[in-house]
Amino acid sequence: MKPLNELTIVEARELLDKGEVTSRQLTEACLQQIKSLDGALHAYLEVYEEDALAAANRADDRRAEGSVLGPLDGIPVAIKDNMLLQGKSSTAGSKILQGYTATYDSTVVKKLVDAGSVILGRVNMDEFAMGSSTERSAYGPTKHPRDPERVPGGSSGGSAVAVAADMCLGALGSDTGGSIRQPASLCGIVGLKPTYGRVSRYGLIAMASSLDQIGPMTKCVEDSAIMLEAIQGQDKNDQTSSDEAYFKPFWKKSLQGVKIGLPKQAWTSQGVEDRVKEKTEAAVAALKSAGADLVEIDLPYADEALAVYYILMPCEVSANLSRFDGMRYGLRKQGLPLFETYAQSRAEGFGDEVMRRVLLGAFALSSGYIDAYYVRAKKVQTLIRQAYEHAFQNVDLIVTPTSPTTAFKFGEKMNDPIAMYLEDVFTVSVNVAGVPAISIPCEDDGGMPVGIQLIGKWFDEATLLSAARVLEAQLKTDN
Ligand code: GLN
Repeated sequence: MKPLNELTIVEARELLDKGEVTSRQLTEACLQQIKSLDGALHAYLEVYEEDALAAANRADDRRAEGSVLGPLDGIPVAIKDNMLLQGKSSTAGSKILQGYTATYDSTVVKKLVDAGSVILGRVNMDEFAMGSSTERSAYGPTKHPRDPERVPGGSSGGSAVAVAADMCLGALGSDTGGSIRQPASLCGIVGLKPTYGRVSRYGLIAMASSLDQIGPMTKCVEDSAIMLEAIQGQDKNDQTSSDEAYFKPFWKKSLQGVKIGLPKQAWTSQGVEDRVKEKTEAAVAALKSAGADLVEIDLPYADEALAVYYILMPCEVSANLSRFDGMRYGLRKQGLPLFETYAQSRAEGFGDEVMRRVLLGAFALSSGYIDAYYVRAKKVQTLIRQAYEHAFQNVDLIVTPTSPTTAFKFGEKMNDPIAMYLEDVFTVSVNVAGVPAISIPCEDDGGMPVGIQLIGKWFDEATLLSAARVLEAQLKTDN
Protein backbone atom coordinates (compact mmCIF):
# COMPACT_ATOMS: atom_id res chain seq x y z
CA MET A 1 0.00 0.00 0.00
CA LYS A 2 1.05 3.61 -0.70
CA PRO A 3 1.93 5.78 2.29
CA LEU A 4 -1.43 7.02 3.60
CA ASN A 5 -0.76 10.69 2.91
CA GLU A 6 -0.19 9.87 -0.76
CA LEU A 7 -3.67 8.46 -1.24
CA THR A 8 -6.33 10.20 -3.30
CA ILE A 9 -9.60 10.95 -1.55
CA VAL A 10 -11.27 8.15 -3.50
CA GLU A 11 -8.62 5.64 -2.42
CA ALA A 12 -8.68 6.79 1.20
CA ARG A 13 -12.43 6.54 1.31
CA GLU A 14 -12.37 2.97 0.05
CA LEU A 15 -9.90 1.96 2.73
CA LEU A 16 -11.93 3.78 5.38
CA ASP A 17 -15.07 1.98 4.23
CA LYS A 18 -13.32 -1.39 4.37
CA GLY A 19 -12.05 -0.59 7.85
CA GLU A 20 -8.44 -0.90 6.73
CA VAL A 21 -7.44 2.59 7.83
CA THR A 22 -8.76 5.17 10.26
CA SER A 23 -9.11 8.89 9.86
CA ARG A 24 -6.67 9.21 12.74
CA GLN A 25 -4.04 7.33 10.72
CA LEU A 26 -4.67 9.42 7.60
CA THR A 27 -4.44 12.62 9.60
CA GLU A 28 -1.29 11.53 11.42
CA ALA A 29 0.34 10.61 8.10
CA CYS A 30 -0.38 14.09 6.72
CA LEU A 31 0.84 15.78 9.91
CA GLN A 32 4.01 13.71 9.74
CA GLN A 33 4.58 14.74 6.14
CA ILE A 34 4.05 18.39 7.08
CA LYS A 35 6.64 18.01 9.83
CA SER A 36 9.22 16.52 7.52
CA LEU A 37 8.69 18.72 4.46
CA ASP A 38 7.02 21.96 5.29
CA GLY A 39 10.02 23.56 6.93
CA ALA A 40 11.53 23.68 3.45
CA LEU A 41 8.37 24.17 1.35
CA HIS A 42 6.37 26.59 3.54
CA ALA A 43 2.93 25.70 2.23
CA TYR A 44 1.27 25.97 5.64
CA LEU A 45 0.91 29.21 7.56
CA GLU A 46 -0.65 27.40 10.50
CA VAL A 47 -1.28 23.76 11.32
CA TYR A 48 -4.22 22.91 13.58
CA GLU A 49 -2.69 19.70 14.90
CA GLU A 50 -4.81 19.24 18.01
CA ASP A 51 -8.08 20.20 16.37
CA ALA A 52 -7.30 17.98 13.40
CA LEU A 53 -6.59 14.94 15.56
CA ALA A 54 -9.76 15.57 17.57
CA ALA A 55 -11.81 15.86 14.37
CA ALA A 56 -10.25 12.64 13.08
CA ASN A 57 -11.19 10.84 16.30
CA ARG A 58 -14.76 12.06 15.96
CA ALA A 59 -14.87 10.79 12.37
CA ASP A 60 -13.63 7.39 13.53
CA ASP A 61 -16.25 7.32 16.29
CA ARG A 62 -18.99 8.08 13.76
CA ARG A 63 -17.73 5.28 11.57
CA ALA A 64 -17.70 2.87 14.49
CA GLU A 65 -21.33 3.80 15.18
CA GLY A 66 -22.29 3.36 11.55
CA SER A 67 -23.19 7.02 11.02
CA VAL A 68 -20.71 8.11 8.36
CA LEU A 69 -21.51 11.60 7.04
CA GLY A 70 -20.46 11.07 3.44
CA PRO A 71 -17.48 10.73 1.14
CA LEU A 72 -15.42 13.40 2.89
CA ASP A 73 -15.95 12.08 6.39
CA GLY A 74 -12.54 11.74 8.03
CA ILE A 75 -10.59 13.12 5.04
CA PRO A 76 -7.78 15.56 5.95
CA VAL A 77 -7.78 18.74 3.85
CA ALA A 78 -6.18 22.20 3.82
CA ILE A 79 -7.82 25.59 3.33
CA LYS A 80 -6.45 28.74 1.72
CA ASP A 81 -5.68 31.57 4.13
CA ASN A 82 -8.56 33.71 2.80
CA MET A 83 -11.36 31.40 3.98
CA LEU A 84 -12.66 32.11 7.47
CA LEU A 85 -12.79 29.46 10.16
CA GLN A 86 -14.32 30.80 13.34
CA GLY A 87 -11.86 31.31 16.16
CA LYS A 88 -8.84 30.92 13.89
CA SER A 89 -6.59 33.45 12.29
CA SER A 90 -7.12 34.36 8.66
CA THR A 91 -4.78 36.82 7.02
CA ALA A 92 -5.21 36.49 3.23
CA GLY A 93 -1.40 36.46 3.12
CA SER A 94 -1.35 40.09 4.27
CA LYS A 95 0.37 41.88 7.08
CA ILE A 96 -2.67 44.11 7.48
CA LEU A 97 -4.65 41.14 8.83
CA GLN A 98 -1.93 39.80 11.10
CA GLY A 99 -3.57 38.83 14.37
CA TYR A 100 -7.13 38.95 12.99
CA THR A 101 -9.34 36.16 14.31
CA ALA A 102 -12.37 35.10 12.30
CA THR A 103 -15.67 35.69 14.09
CA TYR A 104 -17.69 33.36 11.86
CA ASP A 105 -17.27 30.42 9.49
CA SER A 106 -17.11 30.81 5.74
CA THR A 107 -19.82 28.75 4.06
CA VAL A 108 -17.29 26.53 2.27
CA VAL A 109 -15.34 25.65 5.40
CA LYS A 110 -18.56 25.05 7.31
CA LYS A 111 -19.72 22.71 4.56
CA LEU A 112 -16.45 20.80 4.65
CA VAL A 113 -16.63 20.50 8.43
CA ASP A 114 -20.28 19.45 8.29
CA ALA A 115 -19.26 16.79 5.76
CA GLY A 116 -16.80 15.44 8.34
CA SER A 117 -13.53 16.65 6.78
CA VAL A 118 -10.53 17.17 8.99
CA ILE A 119 -9.14 20.69 8.55
CA LEU A 120 -5.35 20.38 8.83
CA GLY A 121 -4.55 24.07 8.63
CA ARG A 122 -4.47 27.20 6.53
CA VAL A 123 -2.12 27.51 3.60
CA ASN A 124 -0.10 30.26 1.98
CA MET A 125 -1.13 32.60 -0.82
CA ASP A 126 -0.16 35.81 -2.56
CA GLU A 127 -1.40 38.79 -0.57
CA PHE A 128 -5.18 39.12 -1.05
CA ALA A 129 -4.84 36.56 -3.87
CA MET A 130 -3.00 39.02 -6.11
CA GLY A 131 -0.22 37.23 -7.91
CA SER A 132 0.85 34.11 -9.74
CA SER A 133 3.79 32.89 -7.65
CA THR A 134 3.15 33.26 -3.84
CA GLU A 135 6.13 35.62 -3.84
CA ARG A 136 3.64 38.30 -2.80
CA SER A 137 2.73 36.62 0.48
CA ALA A 138 3.67 38.81 3.45
CA TYR A 139 4.72 35.59 5.20
CA GLY A 140 7.35 34.46 2.72
CA PRO A 141 7.00 32.41 -0.48
CA THR A 142 6.06 28.77 -0.88
CA LYS A 143 8.60 26.62 -2.77
CA HIS A 144 7.94 24.29 -5.68
CA PRO A 145 8.09 20.66 -4.47
CA ARG A 146 10.29 19.59 -7.40
CA ASP A 147 12.75 22.47 -7.33
CA PRO A 148 13.18 24.83 -4.37
CA GLU A 149 14.43 27.57 -6.68
CA ARG A 150 11.12 27.71 -8.50
CA VAL A 151 7.71 29.14 -7.68
CA PRO A 152 4.67 26.90 -7.25
CA GLY A 153 2.41 29.41 -9.02
CA GLY A 154 -0.26 31.41 -7.30
CA SER A 155 -2.15 32.81 -5.76
CA SER A 156 -3.24 29.44 -4.31
CA GLY A 157 0.36 28.20 -4.26
CA GLY A 158 0.11 26.92 -0.68
CA SER A 159 -2.91 24.79 -1.57
CA ALA A 160 -1.17 23.42 -4.67
CA VAL A 161 2.01 22.47 -2.81
CA ALA A 162 0.12 20.99 0.13
CA VAL A 163 -1.62 18.65 -2.34
CA ALA A 164 1.35 18.01 -4.65
CA ALA A 165 3.70 17.20 -1.78
CA ASP A 166 1.11 14.96 -0.10
CA MET A 167 0.74 17.16 2.97
CA CYS A 168 -3.06 16.77 2.70
CA LEU A 169 -5.47 14.75 0.56
CA GLY A 170 -7.16 17.77 -1.01
CA ALA A 171 -7.39 21.53 -0.58
CA LEU A 172 -9.52 24.54 -1.36
CA GLY A 173 -8.26 27.42 -3.45
CA SER A 174 -9.87 30.56 -4.81
CA ASP A 175 -9.71 31.72 -8.40
CA THR A 176 -10.33 35.28 -9.58
CA GLY A 177 -8.24 35.14 -12.74
CA GLY A 178 -6.52 31.77 -12.60
CA SER A 179 -5.41 31.29 -9.01
CA ILE A 180 -6.64 27.71 -8.72
CA ARG A 181 -5.75 26.54 -12.21
CA GLN A 182 -2.31 28.11 -12.71
CA PRO A 183 -0.71 26.75 -9.49
CA ALA A 184 -2.39 23.40 -10.17
CA SER A 185 -0.76 23.46 -13.60
CA LEU A 186 2.68 24.42 -12.28
CA CYS A 187 2.58 21.78 -9.53
CA GLY A 188 1.10 18.93 -11.55
CA ILE A 189 -2.26 18.51 -9.80
CA VAL A 190 -5.94 19.00 -10.67
CA GLY A 191 -7.56 22.41 -10.07
CA LEU A 192 -11.19 23.27 -10.72
CA LYS A 193 -12.74 26.72 -10.96
CA PRO A 194 -16.48 26.17 -10.83
CA THR A 195 -19.08 28.33 -12.60
CA TYR A 196 -19.46 31.74 -10.99
CA GLY A 197 -22.33 31.30 -8.52
CA ARG A 198 -21.87 27.56 -8.04
CA VAL A 199 -20.08 27.93 -4.70
CA SER A 200 -20.87 30.49 -2.01
CA ARG A 201 -18.21 33.10 -1.35
CA TYR A 202 -19.59 34.05 2.06
CA GLY A 203 -16.61 34.30 4.42
CA LEU A 204 -14.06 34.41 1.61
CA ILE A 205 -11.91 37.51 2.02
CA ALA A 206 -12.92 39.28 -1.19
CA MET A 207 -10.56 40.23 -3.98
CA ALA A 208 -12.82 41.06 -6.95
CA SER A 209 -16.33 39.98 -6.02
CA SER A 210 -17.75 39.64 -9.52
CA LEU A 211 -14.96 37.22 -10.47
CA ASP A 212 -13.99 35.36 -7.25
CA GLN A 213 -14.90 31.70 -7.04
CA ILE A 214 -13.81 28.92 -4.68
CA GLY A 215 -12.89 25.46 -5.89
CA PRO A 216 -11.09 22.19 -5.14
CA MET A 217 -7.42 21.35 -5.75
CA THR A 218 -6.83 17.62 -5.73
CA LYS A 219 -4.72 14.68 -6.91
CA CYS A 220 -7.31 13.44 -9.42
CA VAL A 221 -10.47 14.57 -11.19
CA GLU A 222 -12.81 12.36 -9.20
CA ASP A 223 -11.57 13.93 -5.96
CA SER A 224 -12.45 17.36 -7.32
CA ALA A 225 -15.96 16.12 -8.05
CA ILE A 226 -16.31 14.87 -4.48
CA MET A 227 -15.19 18.20 -3.04
CA LEU A 228 -17.35 20.23 -5.43
CA GLU A 229 -20.44 18.22 -4.51
CA ALA A 230 -19.79 19.01 -0.86
CA ILE A 231 -19.18 22.75 -1.18
CA GLN A 232 -21.66 23.75 -3.92
CA GLY A 233 -25.06 25.28 -3.47
CA GLN A 234 -27.08 28.41 -3.03
CA ASP A 235 -26.50 30.36 0.16
CA LYS A 236 -28.68 33.12 1.53
CA ASN A 237 -25.52 34.90 2.66
CA ASP A 238 -24.16 35.21 -0.88
CA GLN A 239 -26.66 36.77 -3.24
CA THR A 240 -24.59 35.75 -6.26
CA SER A 241 -24.79 32.06 -5.38
CA SER A 242 -27.16 30.19 -7.63
CA ASP A 243 -29.69 27.36 -7.34
CA GLU A 244 -29.11 26.38 -10.96
CA ALA A 245 -29.17 22.57 -11.42
CA TYR A 246 -26.76 21.25 -8.83
CA PHE A 247 -23.68 19.36 -9.93
CA LYS A 248 -24.04 15.61 -9.88
CA PRO A 249 -21.16 13.70 -11.44
CA PHE A 250 -21.76 11.26 -14.23
CA TRP A 251 -18.73 9.50 -15.65
CA LYS A 252 -18.54 8.73 -19.34
CA LYS A 253 -16.16 6.08 -20.59
CA SER A 254 -15.07 7.86 -23.76
CA LEU A 255 -15.30 11.20 -25.51
CA GLN A 256 -17.31 9.76 -28.38
CA GLY A 257 -19.74 12.43 -29.51
CA VAL A 258 -18.07 15.20 -27.50
CA LYS A 259 -17.12 18.23 -29.58
CA ILE A 260 -14.08 20.12 -28.38
CA GLY A 261 -13.04 23.56 -29.62
CA LEU A 262 -9.36 23.95 -30.37
CA PRO A 263 -8.18 27.58 -30.41
CA LYS A 264 -4.90 26.61 -32.00
CA GLN A 265 -3.51 30.07 -32.61
CA ALA A 266 -3.72 30.64 -28.86
CA TRP A 267 -0.85 28.36 -28.00
CA THR A 268 1.16 28.30 -31.15
CA SER A 269 1.68 32.02 -30.50
CA GLN A 270 4.79 33.64 -29.14
CA GLY A 271 5.31 33.71 -25.41
CA VAL A 272 4.23 30.11 -24.94
CA GLU A 273 7.07 27.88 -23.77
CA ASP A 274 8.06 25.04 -26.14
CA ARG A 275 7.53 22.44 -23.46
CA VAL A 276 3.98 23.71 -22.95
CA LYS A 277 3.33 23.53 -26.70
CA GLU A 278 4.61 19.94 -26.92
CA LYS A 279 2.62 18.69 -23.97
CA THR A 280 -0.50 20.45 -25.19
CA GLU A 281 -0.15 18.76 -28.58
CA ALA A 282 0.18 15.40 -26.82
CA ALA A 283 -2.93 16.12 -24.75
CA VAL A 284 -4.86 17.08 -27.88
CA ALA A 285 -3.78 13.77 -29.44
CA ALA A 286 -5.02 12.01 -26.31
CA LEU A 287 -8.40 13.76 -26.62
CA LYS A 288 -8.57 12.48 -30.17
CA SER A 289 -7.70 8.90 -29.21
CA ALA A 290 -10.39 9.07 -26.55
CA GLY A 291 -12.89 9.73 -29.33
CA ALA A 292 -13.40 13.49 -29.14
CA ASP A 293 -14.38 15.43 -32.21
CA LEU A 294 -11.93 18.36 -32.43
CA VAL A 295 -12.85 21.58 -34.22
CA GLU A 296 -10.63 24.59 -34.70
CA ILE A 297 -12.10 27.77 -33.23
CA ASP A 298 -10.93 31.20 -32.08
CA LEU A 299 -10.48 31.60 -28.35
CA PRO A 300 -13.01 34.29 -27.48
CA TYR A 301 -11.20 37.63 -27.16
CA ALA A 302 -7.94 36.14 -25.91
CA ASP A 303 -6.05 39.46 -25.90
CA GLU A 304 -8.87 41.71 -24.80
CA ALA A 305 -9.77 39.49 -21.84
CA LEU A 306 -6.48 40.19 -20.08
CA ALA A 307 -6.93 43.95 -20.53
CA VAL A 308 -10.53 43.79 -19.33
CA TYR A 309 -9.53 41.75 -16.30
CA TYR A 310 -6.73 44.13 -15.33
CA ILE A 311 -9.27 47.01 -15.32
CA LEU A 312 -12.30 45.37 -13.69
CA MET A 313 -10.32 43.46 -11.06
CA PRO A 314 -8.38 46.49 -9.65
CA CYS A 315 -11.58 48.55 -9.61
CA GLU A 316 -13.24 45.95 -7.41
CA VAL A 317 -10.05 45.51 -5.39
CA SER A 318 -9.91 49.22 -4.60
CA ALA A 319 -13.50 49.12 -3.34
CA ASN A 320 -13.19 45.81 -1.44
CA LEU A 321 -9.95 46.71 0.29
CA SER A 322 -11.19 50.10 1.50
CA ARG A 323 -12.46 48.31 4.61
CA PHE A 324 -8.88 47.74 5.76
CA ASP A 325 -8.43 51.13 7.35
CA GLY A 326 -6.71 50.39 10.63
CA MET A 327 -9.98 50.75 12.51
CA ARG A 328 -11.93 47.56 12.04
CA TYR A 329 -9.48 44.76 11.47
CA GLY A 330 -5.90 43.79 12.13
CA LEU A 331 -3.03 46.21 12.00
CA ARG A 332 -3.41 49.78 13.28
CA LYS A 333 -0.86 52.55 13.00
CA GLN A 334 -2.18 55.39 15.12
CA GLY A 335 -1.80 58.84 13.54
CA LEU A 336 -3.28 62.29 13.83
CA PRO A 337 -5.57 63.54 12.38
CA LEU A 338 -7.75 60.44 11.87
CA PHE A 339 -6.93 60.32 8.18
CA GLU A 340 -3.31 59.62 9.12
CA THR A 341 -4.41 56.47 10.94
CA TYR A 342 -6.00 55.20 7.73
CA ALA A 343 -3.06 56.24 5.59
CA GLN A 344 -0.32 54.89 7.84
CA SER A 345 -2.10 51.62 8.60
CA ARG A 346 -2.57 50.98 4.90
CA ALA A 347 0.94 52.09 3.98
CA GLU A 348 2.37 49.74 6.59
CA GLY A 349 -0.07 46.87 6.09
CA PHE A 350 -0.31 46.52 2.31
CA GLY A 351 2.44 45.20 0.06
CA ASP A 352 3.50 46.81 -3.22
CA GLU A 353 1.31 44.78 -5.56
CA VAL A 354 -1.82 45.39 -3.48
CA MET A 355 -1.00 49.08 -3.39
CA ARG A 356 -0.48 49.14 -7.16
CA ARG A 357 -3.90 47.62 -7.77
CA VAL A 358 -5.72 49.82 -5.27
CA LEU A 359 -4.22 52.87 -6.96
CA LEU A 360 -4.98 51.62 -10.47
CA GLY A 361 -8.54 50.79 -9.52
CA ALA A 362 -9.17 54.10 -7.78
CA PHE A 363 -7.82 55.86 -10.86
CA ALA A 364 -9.93 53.85 -13.30
CA LEU A 365 -13.05 54.58 -11.24
CA SER A 366 -12.40 58.28 -10.75
CA SER A 367 -14.74 60.79 -12.37
CA GLY A 368 -13.40 61.70 -15.76
CA TYR A 369 -11.91 58.24 -16.30
CA ILE A 370 -14.66 55.85 -15.28
CA ASP A 371 -16.29 55.85 -18.71
CA ALA A 372 -13.02 55.36 -20.54
CA TYR A 373 -11.90 52.46 -18.34
CA TYR A 374 -14.44 50.76 -16.09
CA VAL A 375 -17.55 51.28 -18.20
CA ARG A 376 -15.74 50.35 -21.38
CA ALA A 377 -14.27 47.22 -19.80
CA LYS A 378 -17.76 46.20 -18.63
CA LYS A 379 -18.97 46.52 -22.23
CA VAL A 380 -16.16 44.35 -23.53
CA GLN A 381 -16.99 41.86 -20.76
CA THR A 382 -20.44 41.52 -22.33
CA LEU A 383 -18.83 40.85 -25.70
CA ILE A 384 -16.60 38.18 -24.15
CA ARG A 385 -19.62 36.47 -22.58
CA GLN A 386 -21.41 36.56 -25.91
CA ALA A 387 -18.38 35.13 -27.67
CA TYR A 388 -18.40 32.18 -25.25
CA GLU A 389 -22.15 31.71 -25.80
CA HIS A 390 -21.51 31.69 -29.49
CA ALA A 391 -18.59 29.25 -29.22
CA PHE A 392 -20.66 26.91 -27.05
CA GLN A 393 -23.36 26.70 -29.69
CA ASN A 394 -20.92 24.64 -31.71
CA VAL A 395 -18.73 22.89 -29.16
CA ASP A 396 -19.21 21.27 -25.75
CA LEU A 397 -15.80 22.18 -24.37
CA ILE A 398 -12.75 24.27 -25.24
CA VAL A 399 -9.17 23.13 -24.67
CA THR A 400 -6.09 25.34 -24.06
CA PRO A 401 -2.90 25.16 -22.06
CA THR A 402 -3.55 26.38 -18.51
CA SER A 403 -0.47 28.58 -18.32
CA PRO A 404 1.93 29.73 -21.03
CA THR A 405 4.90 28.66 -18.87
CA THR A 406 6.06 25.98 -16.49
CA ALA A 407 7.22 26.87 -12.97
CA PHE A 408 9.63 29.81 -13.21
CA LYS A 409 12.47 30.86 -10.92
CA PHE A 410 12.00 33.06 -7.88
CA GLY A 411 12.55 36.69 -8.78
CA GLU A 412 12.21 36.10 -12.51
CA LYS A 413 8.98 38.09 -12.90
CA MET A 414 8.86 40.04 -9.64
CA ASN A 415 10.05 43.32 -11.11
CA ASP A 416 8.01 43.05 -14.27
CA PRO A 417 4.29 43.14 -13.46
CA ILE A 418 3.30 42.68 -17.11
CA ALA A 419 5.33 39.46 -17.38
CA MET A 420 3.59 38.23 -14.23
CA TYR A 421 0.14 39.25 -15.56
CA LEU A 422 0.81 37.31 -18.77
CA GLU A 423 0.72 34.11 -16.71
CA ASP A 424 -3.05 34.66 -16.74
CA VAL A 425 -3.49 34.86 -20.50
CA PHE A 426 -5.37 31.55 -20.84
CA THR A 427 -7.23 31.66 -17.55
CA VAL A 428 -8.76 35.15 -17.12
CA SER A 429 -11.39 35.09 -19.88
CA VAL A 430 -12.97 32.16 -18.04
CA ASN A 431 -13.54 34.35 -14.96
CA VAL A 432 -14.63 37.32 -17.05
CA ALA A 433 -17.28 35.11 -18.69
CA GLY A 434 -18.09 33.20 -15.48
CA VAL A 435 -17.78 29.74 -17.04
CA PRO A 436 -16.20 26.71 -15.29
CA ALA A 437 -12.74 25.37 -16.18
CA ILE A 438 -10.39 22.70 -14.93
CA SER A 439 -6.63 22.20 -15.17
CA ILE A 440 -5.36 18.65 -15.28
CA PRO A 441 -1.74 17.55 -15.41
CA CYS A 442 -0.27 16.39 -18.72
CA GLU A 443 1.75 13.21 -18.77
CA ASP A 444 4.45 13.28 -16.07
CA ASP A 445 8.01 12.80 -17.34
CA GLY A 446 9.57 13.93 -14.09
CA GLY A 447 10.29 17.42 -15.41
CA MET A 448 8.38 20.60 -14.61
CA PRO A 449 4.65 19.85 -14.83
CA VAL A 450 2.38 21.27 -17.54
CA GLY A 451 -1.38 21.62 -17.15
CA ILE A 452 -4.06 21.39 -19.77
CA GLN A 453 -7.21 23.46 -19.38
CA LEU A 454 -10.70 22.36 -20.34
CA ILE A 455 -13.38 25.07 -20.34
CA GLY A 456 -17.06 24.16 -20.05
CA LYS A 457 -20.51 25.70 -20.36
CA TRP A 458 -22.12 27.62 -17.52
CA PHE A 459 -23.24 25.18 -14.80
CA ASP A 460 -22.20 22.17 -16.84
CA GLU A 461 -19.43 20.93 -14.56
CA ALA A 462 -20.76 17.39 -15.11
CA THR A 463 -19.66 17.35 -18.76
CA LEU A 464 -16.45 19.20 -17.92
CA LEU A 465 -15.37 16.78 -15.19
CA SER A 466 -16.45 13.72 -17.08
CA ALA A 467 -14.30 14.72 -20.07
CA ALA A 468 -11.42 15.66 -17.78
CA ARG A 469 -11.54 12.22 -16.20
CA VAL A 470 -11.47 10.48 -19.57
CA LEU A 471 -8.52 12.63 -20.63
CA GLU A 472 -6.74 11.95 -17.34
CA ALA A 473 -7.05 8.20 -17.93
CA GLN A 474 -6.09 8.49 -21.59
CA LEU A 475 -2.92 10.44 -20.77
CA LYS A 476 -1.91 7.56 -18.53
CA THR A 477 -2.54 4.85 -21.14
CA ASP A 478 -0.78 6.88 -23.86
CA ASN A 479 2.41 6.63 -21.87
N1 GLN B 1 -2.73 35.97 -11.21
C1 GLN B 1 -3.95 36.69 -11.21
C2 GLN B 1 -3.80 37.99 -10.51
O1 GLN B 1 -2.77 38.27 -10.06
C3 GLN B 1 -5.07 35.85 -10.66
C4 GLN B 1 -5.32 36.00 -9.23
C5 GLN B 1 -6.44 35.17 -8.72
O2 GLN B 1 -7.05 34.39 -9.45
N2 GLN B 1 -6.76 35.37 -7.46
O3 GLN B 1 -4.72 38.76 -10.40
